[in-house]
Amino acid sequence: METEKFNILYVDDEEDNLRIFKASFRRQFNIFIASDTHIAKEILQTNDIHLIISDQRMPEKTGVEFLEEIVTDFPDVVRIILTAFSDTTDIIRAINKVGIYRYLTKPWDIDDLTMTIKSAMNNFMLKRQNKDLIVNLQIINEELTKTNEDLKQRNKELDEYVYRISHEVRAPVSSILGLFYLLKNHENNSDFTTIQNYLHLIEQNIIKLDVFIRSVLQYSATKNFESQIEEVDFDKLINECVKEFFPYGINDKIKIEKDIRISQPFLSDVGLLKTIFRNLLENAIKYAKSTNSPNIINIQAHSTEKGVAISFADNGIGIPKQYQSKIFDMFYRANDYSNGSGLGLYIVKLAVERLNAQISLESEEDKGTTFFLEIPCATA
Ligand code: ADP
Repeated sequence: METEKFNILYVDDEEDNLRIFKASFRRQFNIFIASDTHIAKEILQTNDIHLIISDQRMPEKTGVEFLEEIVTDFPDVVRIILTAFSDTTDIIRAINKVGIYRYLTKPWDIDDLTMTIKSAMNNFMLKRQNKDLIVNLQIINEELTKTNEDLKQRNKELDEYVYRISHEVRAPVSSILGLFYLLKNHENNSDFTTIQNYLHLIEQNIIKLDVFIRSVLQYSATKNFESQIEEVDFDKLINECVKEFFPYGINDKIKIEKDIRISQPFLSDVGLLKTIFRNLLENAIKYAKSTNSPNIINIQAHSTEKGVAISFADNGIGIPKQYQSKIFDMFYRANDYSNGSGLGLYIVKLAVERLNAQISLESEEDKGTTFFLEIPCATA
């Protein structure tokens, strides 16, 4: 704090003293004067006073009484009492109850008072710095505690992730190895169909492994994705995602219905949107009902006040109520209908969080599932 910004309030009922004090110190400090304690309180309410120098003998109350009254509301203000020698009992009370910094005897000597004010100023600055340091330390401490909690949680997730990955990889690898040894040791007269069956099972396990590894890579890419915001052409984006599934029966066994009504420019991360749409489409295909004719995936999108609302509805096998709250968890699978990794919707959740979006679902067993997305427009 610079000297000229140090604000001193001088309280004294004698106008001459006020004038002399102001004249003596106004060049070095910001001086406020009050001829009674009412005026002094008003000044305290409206100004950031750092030091109060109060006369002890005043008509309506003593300086010590005045300081006692204001100490709770202004605890940081440094307090000095000016007094005659005879007031020692009051001064002891002031030191004990109000924590005055110094008391000076009247009439004051200018050099003495200057030194006392400067030392009070240093005291005030140290106290304020200390207070700031404590506040900063508390903030840093809270941040550290939070980071620590986050790290603990991440560590737990990482452990779980590593365990699950090794488990998910080991299962098909063990099956492949087992089948491979069966083939290797098969009797020469084994028939062609048996060998074909073994090969088919090996192929299934390799596909499972491949699906799993691709999901893990997709998860890692989504997690470390560098966001790139651009204007989204929804129709084009949906068409691109749908086309990727042509080899998997879209256009043939599965019909796509689209109703895209985007009336305002929409900015978002196309990469993350693609990740979400691909996974939802893939699930709608994977969990289609074999008895359906046709299987339908209905995609609707429209502009909202904050961005875009989009839904993906299928008439597939549906998700039983008791599993619906878990399907976004890592590695969670609600059935064994497919070779899924249980990572698809977890990746969707990750991408949704990165877009500050919301996802929800409605599903009925044997009737179908609809996923609803509310995606806010990003800022460029
Ligand atoms: P998976 O690799 O098993 O498909 P996901 O994380 O993508 O994993 O989905 C989790 C589970 O949610 C799936 O195992 C499936 O049971 C259920 N599920 C997801 N989407 C659908 C859907 N459209 N229809 C029926 N079930 C679904």
